[in-house]
Amino acid sequence: MNILLLGAPGSGKSLQSIFIKNIFETKNISLGDLLREEINNKTALGNIIKDKINNGILIDDNIVFDIFKSVIDFKNNFLLDGFPRTVSQALFLYDIKFKIDYVIKMDISDIILLKRIKYRLICSNSKISYNILYNIPKLKYKDDISGGNLLSRVDDKFFIFKNRLIDYNIKTSKLINFFINRGIKIINVNANDKPDKIFENIKNKIYCYEKFK
Ligand code: AMP
Repeated sequence: MNILLLGAPGSGKSLQSIFIKNIFETKNISLGDLLREEINNKTALGNIIKDKINNGILIDDNIVFDIFKSVIDFKNNFLLDGFPRTVSQALFLYDIKFKIDYVIKMDISDIILLKRIKYRLICSNSKISYNILYNIPKLKYKDDISGGNLLSRVDDKFFIFKNRLIDYNIKTSKLINFFINRGIKIINVNANDKPDKIFENIKNKIYCYEKFK
């Protein structure tokens, strides 16, 4: 089974992907994390993509296709976070015969998103995210688990976030239609809920679909 996790920036995808991995033993791929790693490691590719990433602009398909191909081994049980994001990327998956079984779509209000983004801090090592209003780290600016430094994402600035959100909404509605037309199961979850409740919902819906397969 392969799962695609879709949600606006700040909707809580990374936390849900950890929960999903723990229960369904998925291999998780976050395109955004892989791209940011290139920047942190100061590779040639990192230099090319840096400006786009920092400004919340999507990276060219040929680059993300190469990265994606380099991290999959064609076995099952992948959880894809942030790829595919467009119809052209979904078509690429069809071309390479990578089948998606479930699309989890995290729906959340813009006001909540804004609060999450404005106060979001992410650990540079573990990628675990905190919020200085309602998910506070034990030590200021340190990850509870790895002790790594907590930083704001460059692309979490308000005007960049606003453009990322508009772009997400436009591209995602086309992508969802694409999957519906091909009979892929869409699991809509209310991402305004608490993380545990969101996961409960995801887990129950997947179990239910798997049972009646
Ligand atoms: P994310 O961590 O998913 O919020 O992604 C951060 C940034 O990485 C995006 O704003 C894009 O610049 C880039 N990115 C992530 N996934 C993709 C993708 N599927 N296609 C193109 N660019 C991507």
